[in-house]
Amino acid sequence: MVMEIAYCGLDCGACPAFHAVERLTVEERQAVADNWSKEFGGTHTVADIDCAGCTHEGHHAPYCESDCDIRKCGAEKSVPTCAACADYGCDKLAGFLANVPDAKANLEARRPA
Ligand code: SF4
Ligand code: SF4
Repeated sequence: MVMEIAYCGLDCGACPAFHAVERLTVEERQAVADNWSKEFGGTHTVADIDCAGCTHEGHHAPYCESDCDIRKCGAEKSVPTCAACADYGCDKLAGFLANVPDAKANLEARRPA
């Protein structure tokens, strides 16, 4: 799977929901839904396990569609990722990147020179 960098620097290409309708069977999507319910709480259904990717229009998995403030902000600012934002390092992003070094490295590699 190719890398598909989200606004926050995560690699959507490594997420099981990414284009799952085309890549996974219904049983495999249900297994991911069961894992997410265990890992993140709540009840995830098979319909939740499909996503166009953070920076693309279309269906998104529930957290990324509704709850992620970084995604909402990046979409409003029309940046390709937070790396291109004039406010890079804002509080929303810094709090997240402090706990996710891979996402931080992906964004740092995309910062303008
Ligand atoms: S935006 Fe979609 S593909 Fe990317 S991490 Fe979130 S759920 Fe996964
Ligand atoms: S303000 Fe922060 S969260 Fe919003 S696009 Fe810029 S860096 Fe990302």
